[in-house]
Amino acid sequence: MQYLFFSFLIICIFIFSSCYTSKMYSRASFPHHTDTSFVYRLPVLNKNKVYVSQGYYGVFSHRRIFALDFRLKMNTPVCAARSGIVVGTEWKHNRGGATRKWIDKANYVEIKHDDGTWASYWHLQYNGVIVKNGDRVEVGQLIGYSGNTGFSTMPHLHFELWGIDEMGYKTFPSFFYVSGKRRILQGGRSYRIIP
Ligand SMILES: [Zn+2]
Repeated sequence: MQYLFFSFLIICIFIFSSCYTSKMYSRASFPHHTDTSFVYRLPVLNKNKVYVSQGYYGVFSHRRIFALDFRLKMNTPVCAARSGIVVGTEWKHNRGGATRKWIDKANYVEIKHDDGTWASYWHLQYNGVIVKNGDRVEVGQLIGYSGNTGFSTMPHLHFELWGIDEMGYKTFPSFFYVSGKRRILQGGRSYRIIP
């Protein structure tokens, strides 16, 4: 009887917490400098379905950041979610691990958008960056290949949008086009650009 009661309690807590978090995500506050009318493209090829393994404010490593982890197999093409200029790249790391000591060992691409915001694409594979600083990239353009470098426990792409205001570095959430609609992505769900 006691076992049943505790099982019921755990199920209630689970249902309540998932309702609460999805509410929180959908009401995520947009920093005032962000153009919320811009809708981003999933950073993968049209045909690829992607699973969001960790969403905004995820408890594993996104506690205070609006970042998304897309679970991608090694060597999956990564595409620009928005046009801009490449302002940072790293490609020479070849390992990763589950602790923060690996945090500066990730390969990445950073793109500055026309509105002054940036996008970071992390954990790319060794030698998996095909753009260079100063390049102009268009939305959907191939920029590199996914990997498992840096602070990473499995192959995935960490995607983060950020800007700098009077308080300093600030990440922000955004809408994405998925299946022809504008959505805020949730952890634990899969998405595709084309229905
Ligand atoms: Zn992440």
